Amino acid sequence: MLCKKCNREGTLVIRKVFFFCDACFIANIIHKFRACIGKNTKFTNDNKSLICLSGDISSTVLLDLVMNGINLNTHKKLRISPVFLHVTGILSTDDSVCNLIMDQCKKYNVDLISMNISSMITEYKDYYEADSSVKNNNFRLPTINNLVNKISPSAEKDFSSRIKQKVFYKVAKDLECNSIFTSETNTKLSAKLLSNIVMGRGSQIENDIGFADCRDKDVKLFRPMRDITDEELNHYVRIRHLSSVDKSVSEINLQSLIANFISDLEINSPATISTICKTADKISSADDNSGKPCQICQNNLKTKVDKLTATDATAFSKVVSSGEYQASLLTEDIESVTKMEVFPHIFEELCYSCSKNYYEFKTNIGLH
Ligand SMILES: [Zn+2]
Ligand SMILES: [Zn+2]
Repeated sequence: MLCKKCNREGTLVIRKVFFFCDACFIANIIHKFRACIGKNTKFTNDNKSLICLSGDISSTVLLDLVMNGINLNTHKKLRISPVFLHVTGILSTDDSVCNLIMDQCKKYNVDLISMNISSMITEYKDYYEADSSVKNNNFRLPTINNLVNKISPSAEKDFSSRIKQKVFYKVAKDLECNSIFTSETNTKLSAKLLSNIVMGRGSQIENDIGFADCRDKDVKLFRPMRDITDEELNHYVRIRHLSSVDKSVSEINLQSLIANFISDLEINSPATISTICKTADKISSADDNSGKPCQICQNNLKTKVDKLTATDATAFSKVVSSGEYQASLLTEDIESVTKMEVFPHIFEELCYSCSKNYYEFKTNIGLH
């Protein structure tokens, strides 16, 4: 079959339909990356940008695309000063991953900043304890040691990914970067969209899945690989001879189940994936991001609406099924009683989903 761009012999096929030769395929990926940045008016040139690397295949391609972009001498040159960051995981520091990313950076002759996420969690704990308004509320984040294996794997995954994002923002601000690049692909974002809905983060889809997360007024987070799929990444690293870490360890949590479902879908029904992400573009919440942010995930805290919400219903059934429900509560403000029991700090310090996670910390490790 012939390459769809230049009519020479095709060497690979995308989505079982589109044939490319190697050169046209690479040009097409570079174009997608640049177009994603270029068409977005929220991105201004001459940024100092924090590029977040994890060593996996998408991070490897992001690094290559960024370096390719800034080394161009044409009008298409990517005008950013990149700073490269690697945040090591919540459970362990895997030296082989650190070494691989360091080697990758050496190859492009750039420096790498490496740090462990747990240092950040301790810092946040101190921050919360020092904040008197929060202290009065008895709101405290769990430390890293009492977090692991004590809450459900899905909540832990959700929590650690939110904290990782906070680390990105903290480092960006410390280093005076005004933007952050992360390497989520179309495939990853499709899975994240479905996970968001399952975890009760439907209202956060616009900022969590879209090209730009503009919740922070000083630092914008961009996802420039949003139009590239995992299938395309595999061809890209093969053609460019790039090496990456295989992170396909099987985890047992909701997010991994959804990710597996999405990767099966990508193999068997590839057109569906782009439809999922396009749907996300159409779901934009009415939030204006001007309210108080959640202390963990930065999402805008919803103010109380008069209608009975799904949160009210969940709170009520949790209290009733826990056996703590007393008839006397009927005479009190049922709403505030149920919320305090099962949704700690909801709408005051935490959003619905973070409050739900916090309830697990609270019951399992004795926080208040
Ligand atoms: Zn071609
Ligand atoms: Zn939150």
